[in-house]
Amino acid sequence: MIPDYLAEALADVKPDTSGETAGYIPELAAADPEHLGAAFAMIDGEVYGAGDIDTEFTIQSISKPFIYALALSDRGFDPVLAKVGVEPSGEAFNEISLESDTGRPLNPMINAGAITVHSLAGAEDLNPAERVERVLQGLSAFAGRQLKTDEAVCASEMEHAHRNLAIAHMLRSHDVLTEDPRVVVDGYTRQCSVLVTTRDLAMMAATLANRGRNPLSGEQVVPEPVVRQVLSVMFSCGMYDAAGDWATQVGIPAKSGVAGGLIGALPGQIGMATFSPRLDTHGNSVRGVSLFERFSSDMGLHVMEVP
Ligand code: GLN
Repeated sequence: MIPDYLAEALADVKPDTSGETAGYIPELAAADPEHLGAAFAMIDGEVYGAGDIDTEFTIQSISKPFIYALALSDRGFDPVLAKVGVEPSGEAFNEISLESDTGRPLNPMINAGAITVHSLAGAEDLNPAERVERVLQGLSAFAGRQLKTDEAVCASEMEHAHRNLAIAHMLRSHDVLTEDPRVVVDGYTRQCSVLVTTRDLAMMAATLANRGRNPLSGEQVVPEPVVRQVLSVMFSCGMYDAAGDWATQVGIPAKSGVAGGLIGALPGQIGMATFSPRLDTHGNSVRGVSLFERFSSDMGLHVMEVP
């Protein structure tokens, strides 16, 4: 029943070939733009899907809420909130959005915030390589299986990471970052280059929906108060400068990535994920946004609607 519904929804959005693959990362620009998949993971661990749900692609910015969760749980709320705010920026994901007096990034979903959050993952005494390992193992715990890194995409992004390096140098000049900006951007780029499938992303979202406990492994990956914080920030900031449109039209805490992934998590109910690489001008998947609009209206999933 659900797989039929998903297959029908995919067939409806398939003809829409508008948008472009991410042009600023050559390996992503060269990705097959026709991939299309959608998966729902229930909080009891059941997964329903249609289309290319086992094709691997890089997680990109969908890593941001999960690493924010790890930082909050590894370091506690106060040290993280002291460095990264929770206000929507209303700007593009790669904007240099810093508070003018403190240099604090506005939120953890834009690159400035996510680069800072990467530096706060794991215990304070970890070296950069150990921190990257903490990030990889943390993402794997959310997915419920061992994930790996796409070295080609990582190298391709690093060669063109001038903008993220500029952001990191700004953060360093304000002492928001306290270490070599190049090392932090390298780690953050590795974080973005972790390979996932649509099925993995649905399960990662279901872990958030399930109070931080992975429905398959049973592991409590992060504590419940951390999940509330993460889902709140996804709701207000997850779709960048389209966040207001998303909150009103779709009404599901969500996060997009420039490889074409998109997740949504409904507390106590379901984790959802879609994959389609062509992006709109905000860097959100065109068909993914259409699919989520449809899921929300067909199933009454908007969090402001009484079920
Ligand atoms: N790695 C990408 C970047 O930092 C992630 C951006 C995204 O997915 N929106 O530019």
